[in-house]
Amino acid sequence: MLKVAEVNVAAQTKKMKIEKNFSIKKYNTFKLDCVVKEFVTIDTENFDKNIFKDKFFILGNGSNILCPEYYDGVIIKYVNKNIVINKNITAYSAVLLNWLCLAALKNSLTGLEWAYGIPGTVGGAVYMNAGAYGGEIANVLKSVYCYNFETHDFCVLSNKDCKFSYRNSIFMNKKYFILSADFDLKKGDPTEIKAKMNDNLQKRKDKQPMNLPSAGSFFKRPVSGDNPVYAAALIEQCGLKGYKIGDAMVSEKHAGFIVNVGKATLKDILSLAEIVQKTVKDQTGYWLELEPEVLCSPTSESL
Ligand SMILES: Cc1cc2nc3c(=O)[nH]c(=O)nc-3n(C[C@H](O)[C@H](O)[C@H](O)COP(=O)(O)OP(=O)(O)OC[C@H]3O[C@@H](n4cnc5c(N)ncnc54)[C@H](O)[C@@H]3O)c2cc1C
Repeated sequence: MLKVAEVNVAAQTKKMKIEKNFSIKKYNTFKLDCVVKEFVTIDTENFDKNIFKDKFFILGNGSNILCPEYYDGVIIKYVNKNIVINKNITAYSAVLLNWLCLAALKNSLTGLEWAYGIPGTVGGAVYMNAGAYGGEIANVLKSVYCYNFETHDFCVLSNKDCKFSYRNSIFMNKKYFILSADFDLKKGDPTEIKAKMNDNLQKRKDKQPMNLPSAGSFFKRPVSGDNPVYAAALIEQCGLKGYKIGDAMVSEKHAGFIVNVGKATLKDILSLAEIVQKTVKDQTGYWLELEPEVLCSPTSESL
């Protein structure tokens, strides 16, 4: 791992924006009503190491999180959305995956078509090694520039350092703030790239409940032998499509999604998830782990 000291944190020109008792309902795709003690937006120029002190949580686009009604800590949202085209692509962590895919298309770079339609940021995608339709971040990432808030160093992690596996990476140990990522894409034919992107987006529209708030697939694929087992198929097999607690419901369109059909709370969602887990375990023997993370302190494990 290479340590670098290229960000001059002392040279801060802009002030951070701090908002108190701030609702993040519009900052999470489940549209859960959550008030946070402090909401801090930071950019590269005003990066302040001091914010990584008390209880905090790093927010991307909020598309893989579950929020309580109140979070007694600091939410840190990085807002640098720049994309740099050099020989390849460098994207700052607040860049939405859709923008990244469009930048790749514009520059005839192939490898990211699978990501088109995932409503996350580069930071959130690298964090959990996002993937779809046979692709994943691990296959296209060269290195990550980040801040280690335990050692207070800036560093570059190579793809190997990131220890990627299925929906997992070193970043889930909650030590790093991801600032930017260098991608390793290949030259391709823009017509083919565009066709693949549109095809993947259409598959999402056909199969997923994109009109209702959710966090995407709610359960990870269970670990099995050589044959892949899909959580959605197991849930459907158990007759749970449409099952509801409060305003949280197992989607009728895609059993792997839990959707918010009104004013669902974290309690509704977790109670429903527990029933799904127990029913699937009893009827099929598989235990389904949750994919989204409950907004809590950086040291807490994801559920
Ligand atoms: C409709 C829908 C479809 C989806 N489809 C897919 C899919 O096909 N494949 C898939 O993999 N996922 C999918 N998801 C889930 C989600 O979009 C991805 O997990 C995405 O990568 C999360 O990114 P985010 O920016 O929203 O992260 P957030 O939800 O904001 O955060 C998720 C985690 O990443 C951490 N994090 C975010 N940014 C940083 C950073 N800069 N530094 C350090 N940690 C950070 C957060 O602390 C948190 O622990 C879907 C979600 C929805 C709602």
